[in-house]
Amino acid sequence: MMNIIEFFRNLPQKKCSKCGNNIIEKADCYGNLCDNCDHPAR
Ligand SMILES: [Zn+2]
Repeated sequence: MMNIIEFFRNLPQKKCSKCGNNIIEKADCYGNLCDNCDHPAR
């Protein structure tokens, strides 16, 4: 059980590949874009 917590803690913080903002709580199926850069139609 503790190993799972350690695993998530050790995950690197995601950053938007476009603007460099941190990405929080996001599925990575969109690539590495934050909410601002991820809008399909701006
Ligand atoms: Zn961005």
